[in-house]
Amino acid sequence: MNTVLQSRQVPVRAEYDVVVCGGGPSGIIAALAASRGGARTAIIERYGFFGGMATAALVAPISVFNYNGRRIIDGIPWEFITRLTEIGGAREEKPLGNITFSPEKYKLIAQRMLVEAGVQIYFHSYLSDCNLSGTIIKHVIVENKDGAEAIGGKVFVDATGDADLAVRAGVPLQPASKKLQPASLIFMLGGVDTEDLPMIRHCKQGVNYLDVEVRKKFEELRKENPDIPVFGGPWYCGILEKGIVLVNMTRIDADMTSNREQTAAECAMREEATLFATLLKMTVPAFSNSFLLETAPQTGVRETRRILGAYTLTGEDYLNAVDFPDSVSRGCHPVDIHSGDTTSQRCQFLKEAAFVPYRCLYSPDFPNYLVAGRAFSADSVASASVRVQASCMGLGQAAGAAAALSVRGGTGVGEIDTDKLRKILISYGTNLSR
Ligand SMILES: Cc1cc2nc3c(=O)[nH]c(=O)nc-3n(C[C@H](O)[C@H](O)[C@H](O)COP(=O)(O)OP(=O)(O)OC[C@H]3O[C@@H](n4cnc5c(N)ncnc54)[C@H](O)[C@@H]3O)c2cc1C
Repeated sequence: MNTVLQSRQVPVRAEYDVVVCGGGPSGIIAALAASRGGARTAIIERYGFFGGMATAALVAPISVFNYNGRRIIDGIPWEFITRLTEIGGAREEKPLGNITFSPEKYKLIAQRMLVEAGVQIYFHSYLSDCNLSGTIIKHVIVENKDGAEAIGGKVFVDATGDADLAVRAGVPLQPASKKLQPASLIFMLGGVDTEDLPMIRHCKQGVNYLDVEVRKKFEELRKENPDIPVFGGPWYCGILEKGIVLVNMTRIDADMTSNREQTAAECAMREEATLFATLLKMTVPAFSNSFLLETAPQTGVRETRRILGAYTLTGEDYLNAVDFPDSVSRGCHPVDIHSGDTTSQRCQFLKEAAFVPYRCLYSPDFPNYLVAGRAFSADSVASASVRVQASCMGLGQAAGAAAALSVRGGTGVGEIDTDKLRKILISYGTNLSR
C-alpha cells in the first residue's frame, strides 16, 4: 500500500485530571464518578449527544439492574435511571430491573447530569490519536470543526466500546475472536398495535423475550424465499410512546472496526430493515398499520476489540460467580451470544449474579490508562453478559472512581489501594456483597 507522511503541530486545548473518551453508558457514568471523586474531568464524544448504543444505535432496553428482584448494579447508574424516570423518560420492568426508556430524554438527562457535575463536554470530537511518553498517555488528539486538538490528562478512561484509545496507545488486546457477534441495525416502527405485542415487556426472570410466533413465521418465509436474509429475534422494545416500537431483527457478520466492512454492513442492513418492516406489516396483525419511522443513526455493535488487562475474566469465573478480593462491579444478565450467519442465539441464564475484578480495567504496563464498558478484559463468554448497558455502567462507575483515586494519590492505576476503591464504590451505592 502506498503511504503519505503527515506531520503537524497540534494545539494543546486544555489539561484535566481525568479524560473520558466516549460518551456511551460506561463513559457517562465514568465521567460522573471521576468528577464525584474530585477530579477535573472532561468527556469526549464523536456525536453531538450522549448514550452510545442506547441512543445512536437505538438499543433499548437497558438490561438489567436486578437479579431475583434484588438490585445488583447500583449507585450512580441507578441515580441516572431515577433522574430519567423523574422526567417520564424511563420505566422499570420488575423484577428484572429492565429499563424501557425514551432515547431523547436519555440524551437530555445524561447531558444535564454531566453539566451539573462540572464535566467539560467535547461533542463532535473524534479521538484519532494520542501522544505518549513511553507508556504514559500525555494527550489524546481529537478532530473536530476546529481542526486537530490535543487534550491533556493525568488519567484516561477508554469508554469508546471499541478500545480505540488502547489501539492508538499500543495497549495489548485480547487475541481476535474467531467469530465476532453480529452487528444489527435497529429500526423504529410507528402505527403499531403495541397492546397486541406482549413480548414488548420484559418482566420475567429466565425468559428470552423474543417473539417466537413471528420468528416461526419468518423462518417459513425464508424457506419459501431464500433471498430473505438471516434475522435475529425479533426482539421489541417500546420508547414509552403508544404505537411506537423498536425492532431488533437485522444481523450481519462484520468486523465493525473495519471502515469498509462497517460501510457495507450499514448499507446492507438499511435494505434489510426496509424489507423486514414491509414483511412485518404484511404478515403480523399487530403491525398491519405500521410504518418505518427511522433506522438508527448507526448500526449497533455487539462485539469488537477488548483489552488484555492485568486479569482476563473468563466465562468459568463468571458463570460460577467467583468473587475476587478486588471485585468492583457486577453482572446479572444471561450470557447472550448471537450467531451472525444463522438465526440462532445461545442464551445461558446465570445461577447467581457475577463479579468483575478491578484488574480487568487496566493493563499492567500502562500506568494512566483505564478501560470502561464492553472493551474490558474478558473472554468472549464473560463479555457476552457484561456487555449489556447496566453492567457497562457499573464498569464506568468503577473506572471513574479509580481514575479519581489514582489522580488523588499520584499513583499508577495498577497501584491504587483496591480496598479503598471498594469502600468508595460502596459509599456511592455499589452492591458488592453476595
Ligand atoms: C443489536 C444490539 C442489541 C443489544 N441489546 C441490548 C439490550 O437489550 N440490553 C442492553 O442493556 N444492552 C444491549 N446491547 C449492548 C449494549 O448496548 C452495549 O454493549 C453497550 O452500550 C456498551 O456500552 P459502552 O459504553 O461500552 O459502549 P457504547 O455504547 O458503544 O459507547 C461508546 C461511545 O463512545 C463513542 N466513541 C466511539 N469511538 C469514538 C472515538 N474514536 N472518538 C470519540 N467518541 C467515540 C461512541 O459514539 C459512543 O457514544 C445490545 C447491543 C446491540 C448492538
